[in-house]
Amino acid sequence: QQEHLRKPEWLKIKLNTNKEYTGLKKMMREKRLHTVCEEARCPNIHECWASRKTATFMILGDVCTRGCRFCAVKTGLPTELDWQEPERVAESVELMGLRHVVVTAVARDDLQDGGAAVFAETIRAIRRRVPFCTVEVLPSDMKGDYESLHTLMDAKPDIFNHNIETVRRLTKKVRARATYDRSLELLKRVKEISPNTPTKSSIMVGLGEEKEEIIQAMDDLLAHNVDIMTIGQYLQPTKKHLDVVRYYHPDEFAELKEIALSKGFRHCEAGPLVRSSYHADEQVNEAARQ
Ligand code: SF4
Ligand code: SF4
Repeated sequence: QQEHLRKPEWLKIKLNTNKEYTGLKKMMREKRLHTVCEEARCPNIHECWASRKTATFMILGDVCTRGCRFCAVKTGLPTELDWQEPERVAESVELMGLRHVVVTAVARDDLQDGGAAVFAETIRAIRRRVPFCTVEVLPSDMKGDYESLHTLMDAKPDIFNHNIETVRRLTKKVRARATYDRSLELLKRVKEISPNTPTKSSIMVGLGEEKEEIIQAMDDLLAHNVDIMTIGQYLQPTKKHLDVVRYYHPDEFAELKEIALSKGFRHCEAGPLVRSSYHADEQVNEAARQ
């Protein structure tokens, strides 16, 4: 990397790996489960798993039919659909004592419903075992199929999260097969189906976007009735992925958060280490109060 793009101090954090964490990792392998927390080597894992009692499960396998240029998940053609997975996720949620869980998935464009039925079953399985745990879903765009969206929404997630990931201009470069407008439309449809379900979307910054474009993305999300926005720093998972164009300073994130809130988002998290699921437990509580 170029000299001026050395990782700044605020991103140099040590992964905190203690005994409890090692035990949880072992459980994940035994249950053949995948978490974004681990796959993305998320720097917040200790805070989330141990203190906040939240985690992000990735269902429908670990092979994605798309290959977005920022994402470290394997690309290929998945072979199986595991109907036992929802129950195993629910068991883990119970064993980990989670209070808020995010359920995301690889994009399963090979399936007719994009995996919506397994999503719905996972929500129901968690509800059966741990009724007090709130469930946030973070699905793909389901190829813009609104019947699939209905299948998922029937299980009544507590938060519906779908990321536009970047500003309009960079979408083609950053995301595979997804479009900016289709993602916005999906978020809008969720509100039409279930007006009281909070909706949420994230962007990563540092991919070459201009500030005006970020502000435009905020306006676009608000125009599609999105309630919560998160903004985090893009970090390159491997050399093969898109380069980081710029590291934003924590003060810039603070400013973006201010702008987002002044524009009308109910909640905004913005910061170098903010991920789509970061502090999600607070967001659901806040949404419930409104
Ligand atoms: Fe997992 Fe999200 Fe927390 Fe990272 S921020 S550890 S991905 S729940
Ligand atoms: Fe990664 Fe999701 Fe893109 Fe698949 S669709 S490559 S899991 S970001």
